Amino acid sequence: MSIPIDLLKHYPWLPSLQVYYSDIATKDPTAFIEEAFLKYPDGELEQRISKIFKAAFNNLEEIKGYKADELNIYLYLIVKILLYVLNNKPISNRVANTYSKQTYKELIEDNDDANLYDICKDLKLKFDFLDPPIEYGINLNKEKREILKTSFKIHFTDYLKLAANLHDDYRKLVHNALSEGYVYLQKKDLIRLLQEHVRRKLIVEEVKDDNNIEKFRKDLLKIREFKELYGNILNNWELKKEDFEYSFKIGFKEGSDLSNNFPPCIQDILRRIQEGMNIVHTERLFLVFFLHALNYPIENIIDIFSNLPDFDRKKTKYQVEFAKKKEYTPHSCSTLKSLNICKANESKDEICLEGYYSKKLDAQKKLSHPLFYIQLKQYRNSMKNKAIKTKIEKKDER
Ligand code: SF4
Repeated sequence: MSIPIDLLKHYPWLPSLQVYYSDIATKDPTAFIEEAFLKYPDGELEQRISKIFKAAFNNLEEIKGYKADELNIYLYLIVKILLYVLNNKPISNRVANTYSKQTYKELIEDNDDANLYDICKDLKLKFDFLDPPIEYGINLNKEKREILKTSFKIHFTDYLKLAANLHDDYRKLVHNALSEGYVYLQKKDLIRLLQEHVRRKLIVEEVKDDNNIEKFRKDLLKIREFKELYGNILNNWELKKEDFEYSFKIGFKEGSDLSNNFPPCIQDILRRIQEGMNIVHTERLFLVFFLHALNYPIENIIDIFSNLPDFDRKKTKYQVEFAKKKEYTPHSCSTLKSLNICKANESKDEICLEGYYSKKLDAQKKLSHPLFYIQLKQYRNSMKNKAIKTKIEKKDER
């Protein structure tokens, strides 16, 4: 039996994927990804994948703009490939959690029990749909007596398999209604088991075969769109994995000039643009992502680029808007170092060279992201201003 295609678009982790998309299964993953980006050239695929990773890094329970369309199938497969090549357990756990929570939400909001029936059948679960629902127990809650009814029962072997990693006491087999080998379940509890199934499908055990994975990663990174997406995910992760303790809200404000607090890498690019020199593609991208992260108005960004010798307003506008739509995050310091964009040594900047004192760790820490540079600079400036103000006040009191 295969399920309706629309159900597969909604839940692409179902086994019927191999029936409907048997051609994908036989394809080389690199060729598959190339074709996927060609099929969706408008950036929507990258944008929606980025949203999943961002939601996961922020520990969100849902993925904004989740859509049950054909692109959702490609998206699911590419996320799996990304998790494999990222080979990073914390990332894979977070994505698996967020994606499976979204699945729970979708299934709970789906009022058609026939879909749940089809899903269980597709997963080859030993399962029965009871119509009409039957009474299987009584819930005694304080003075309230509630008769439990359900349309769902699942064989205990499948129940145990699905619930293996769920440790709540009430999920233990002994705490559930069991008759003739079947466990009677409320709909939401059955969906919770399916959520766990989806979570486990996305968890990638860290791969030990580094050589193979490196080769595969290198091949994939030859695809421009994949490379950008992969880099953006890593930059986002760099930003999120440590919560920055000197948290200062940074962002563009009309009338105030943030540029004095820009890190040397950005200052250097801006200086060269002002001098009418050309800058390379990666520097252009970094500058755009950086200014977008600070919410600079699009027109202001375009104006900065207008000093470049090859400036074309229409083309620049399109590229700046496209980057905004993709919500890319500026590169981390380690990426910028590998791209030769870091200017820590040339500038002899104290923050870039020596890092900062971490109150939490009671130790000196290296700077990991240029956006942290601004936060740190602003924090230090505010401390300096406070000290000056106190000095003046004390003087006035005398
Ligand atoms: S250390 Fe980071 S912020 Fe400083 S110049 Fe290098 S890349 Fe930029």
